[in-house]
Amino acid sequence: MGKALFHELKQLISLRSLKARIFFYILLAGVIPCLLMRFGILDNYEERSVERRIAAVQNQLLVIGNHLISHNYFNNTQTDEKAYAASRDVIDAELETISNLYEGRVLIVDSGLRVVKDTYGISEGKTIISEEVIRCFRGENTSYYDREHGYIEMTVPIMAAAASSEEGDQEASANNIVGVMLTSISNEAIVSTMEVLNRRAVILENLIFVFIVAIAIAVAILLTRPLNRITNAINEVQAGYTDENISVPGYAETAHIVEAFNQLLKRMKVLDDSRQEFVANVSHELKTPMTSIKVLADALLTEENATAELYREFMGDIVSEIDRENKIINDLLTLVKMDKKVQDMNVASLNINDLTELILKRLRPIARKKDVELVFESMRPVVAEVDEVKMTLIMTNLVENAIKYNKEHGWVKVELDADHQFFTFKVSDSGLGIPEDALAHIYERFYRTDKSHSREIGGTGLGLAITKSAILKHRGSITVTSVEGEGSCFTVKIPLTYIPQ
Ligand code: ADP
Repeated sequence: MGKALFHELKQLISLRSLKARIFFYILLAGVIPCLLMRFGILDNYEERSVERRIAAVQNQLLVIGNHLISHNYFNNTQTDEKAYAASRDVIDAELETISNLYEGRVLIVDSGLRVVKDTYGISEGKTIISEEVIRCFRGENTSYYDREHGYIEMTVPIMAAAASSEEGDQEASANNIVGVMLTSISNEAIVSTMEVLNRRAVILENLIFVFIVAIAIAVAILLTRPLNRITNAINEVQAGYTDENISVPGYAETAHIVEAFNQLLKRMKVLDDSRQEFVANVSHELKTPMTSIKVLADALLTEENATAELYREFMGDIVSEIDRENKIINDLLTLVKMDKKVQDMNVASLNINDLTELILKRLRPIARKKDVELVFESMRPVVAEVDEVKMTLIMTNLVENAIKYNKEHGWVKVELDADHQFFTFKVSDSGLGIPEDALAHIYERFYRTDKSHSREIGGTGLGLAITKSAILKHRGSITVTSVEGEGSCFTVKIPLTYIPQ
């Protein structure tokens, strides 16, 4: 249990499990837009709020600026001291109101950069040399938001005459600037609204997060369920409860896996059947000579007046049956060796012309016995990388078959040719030919078109199986064309250079 949990956790961390991947991808797809939205919206809100606040304050300051001019605020050379003081009070009250309203401070600077009014009352009479103020005197309105220290600073010019502040005439309007209002206001209202919004967004985000996690878990489990079902079904087959095709309803993709598995199962069944058939065939083939030997021996034993001649004759038959048994066993051993997965290829560069000549020389006596003419035609000298023993097997089997399954006074023609990649070894004969329906089976173990005739000739039905196996080891191919009663033609194609598996 603990081990299983550890395994699950390990899978989740390494992201190797499909379930974990689906879970994380859904989580990312849900959470990232959420976070982006929160920061995007809040940032945008802040920017717009600051802009709106600046615009509102600037408007009000412009109005006050006009009042300043109309009340001759900068010019205290008025004769009526009383009236000047009264109008100053009005302006001061206005400035007080605005600084209270926006929790800020307003400084009025005259053209000599002297502070004539400070709503905080600290800097009056002092000279202020600040870049913003100087730029404002040149006709540039500035505003600056300091988020870290929580204030917005702006400058608003005070124009001598409203009429001269025409649009686009910066130079002219700059000349009319008689003072600057340097204002800083608090951004606390914005910050507190942002905090409220942020808190709400975090709550909402947490809710969405929980919701997405739940959905991601559910989807990950649901999506991977058919895969678990397939694993279970395959395990059942593996455990041996059933060897039926598995059927798991699911997605098109899982249907493909199931289909592929069923195909594999089918192939395994075919292999299993052919293995059983092979064992049955081997037993049968080995039993036949034994039965003959027993019959012959029994006959000799029961024959009371058996002559020495009869003994010699029967013993001769027994020896040929033993030879046959030996041949079958040798062929079987060759085949088993050929089937071994471990490479036992002994490859060397070989003159194929010489090898063919040698094999034909060995087979010539058999051909002569059957009165079959053996012809060799070589188009060019061929040198190839082959396993000599296996190549000899291939050539001998094919030529031997062509002689064995031939008519009297027939012929066998061996042709050798090559291109830049392969060499072809072609054996054609004027023999019995192979029936069309048998062509697909001749490479099967123990297959013979005519069992009794073949046995009579001395065939085991293993020759072509061995031949094909040896050709495949060389990564070559074998094809056959045949007309029953007229003859057959086997063509072997083998690469000139050996390609290891
Ligand atoms: P066998 O040892 O019996 O010859 P093979 O595997 O070599 O077995 O051949 C399988 C069968 O294919 C033979 O029994 C024979 O019927 C048929 N066959 C093979 N080669 C030829 C051929 N050249 N002409 C006619 N039939 C052939």
